[in-house]
Amino acid sequence: MQFRIIVQFAELALKGKNRHRFIRRLRKNIKDKLKILGYEWPVKAIHDRIYVQVPGAEGEAESIDEKTARAVVHELGRLPGIAWLSFVYWLSEQRFGFLGEKPDLLVIHELIERLAQEQYRPESSFAVRVKRRDKRFALKSQDFEQQIATTILKSSDWQQVNLSRPDQTFYVDIASDGVSVHSEKIMGVGGLPVGSTGQVLTLLSGGFDSPVAAWLMAKRGCQTDFIHFTASHRPPEAIEADKIVRTAKIVSESSGFVRLYIVPYTYFDMALMELDLEYDLILFRRFMARVATRLMPDVEAQALVTGDNLGQVASQTLENMESMNKSTEAMILRPLLAYNKHDIIDLSTQLGLFEVCREPHKDCCALISKNPRTKSRADVLEKMEQIYLSDYESLIDDTLNDAQVLTFYFGRWVNQQQVGTEE
Ligand code: ATP
Ligand code: MG
Repeated sequence: MQFRIIVQFAELALKGKNRHRFIRRLRKNIKDKLKILGYEWPVKAIHDRIYVQVPGAEGEAESIDEKTARAVVHELGRLPGIAWLSFVYWLSEQRFGFLGEKPDLLVIHELIERLAQEQYRPESSFAVRVKRRDKRFALKSQDFEQQIATTILKSSDWQQVNLSRPDQTFYVDIASDGVSVHSEKIMGVGGLPVGSTGQVLTLLSGGFDSPVAAWLMAKRGCQTDFIHFTASHRPPEAIEADKIVRTAKIVSESSGFVRLYIVPYTYFDMALMELDLEYDLILFRRFMARVATRLMPDVEAQALVTGDNLGQVASQTLENMESMNKSTEAMILRPLLAYNKHDIIDLSTQLGLFEVCREPHKDCCALISKNPRTKSRADVLEKMEQIYLSDYESLIDDTLNDAQVLTFYFGRWVNQQQVGTEE
């Protein structure tokens, strides 16, 4: 017996060229993710579905056991763009000859028997769906469905058949090259394959919101990089354990290629030190937006993303967001603006981020005053910047020269290097 994985593309309503492009991208993401897991398995796209062929026992050098193959299904299920996936038992025509005149269907019945026993839930109903894609198969779909249902009723505790709204469906698909049998649809996260709609740069802080904001953009097909502003330089030996680094790494498990720029804000801090301005928080936001904007061409980002959530903290007002917007020409996206906190927490759990996000973030902002302004006006802020941060371009240059970048690929850290804006 061999295994296959069926992957159903999520956005079925999409039409035309985009649809083909998105499916091609999903296929590539699946291939890349498999490769990083150490598997170079054939991945084929046929209509709205993608089929992953797991190397099996029939004459192939590599043979994968069921447990490993199921773990791979789970990993693939985290990629955006997938409605559902199925783990499929595959019986090849070459070996079993189902399309012959008097096929021996025992192997299919035995498999169904096993699945029925494994899947049994009391008080539940079932149905069997046979699809006869190759009409050379001797039995009509309906007759074979009845035969299989009889096997299930006889050999397991399932007693209730319900053809219109079954709790459990057993699928048998008869094609020219073989028969596939499956009984589970594992839900994917939906959305669009990463890399199909654009490139963004997310401002990543130590809380729940910004990684979830990045994840929502990834789910709509955007590739994302991160920029994090920090008070402290990290010694190389402390990098791997760092909360921000682990957060970026987890996002990359689903979203693939992710660069994390860690940027100390020493120069900004020094310029405003001891002034105790009540506007310093929004000045900092404008500073972050400008430094991130400078980085955008390098990472080919089309927009910045933040985890802003209206009213969540006193400074998250429309006025302050506007003051941040006015500091840059770049588009700033705030996918969480109207979310409730518990929805954000749910999303962080879905992504496997909850545990890391709830850890305390030690990198506290020494420079931020205790009572930040809840309202601000861009013209007032500009005047302050002219006084206290008069050489803004050099401030950005110096800041980015101190940056460190880490690159992740599907949850693996692939390199670490110093970057600067100077050639
Ligand atoms: P989060 O949960 O993402 O930390 P928050 O609720 O703490 O957000 P703020 O601290 O007000 O909200 O920050 C709002 C947004 O500004 C963050 O979601 C993030 O996008 C950005 N941001 C804040 N601090 C930093 C930082 N040190 N580095 C990069 N981006 C930051
Ligand atoms: Mg924060």
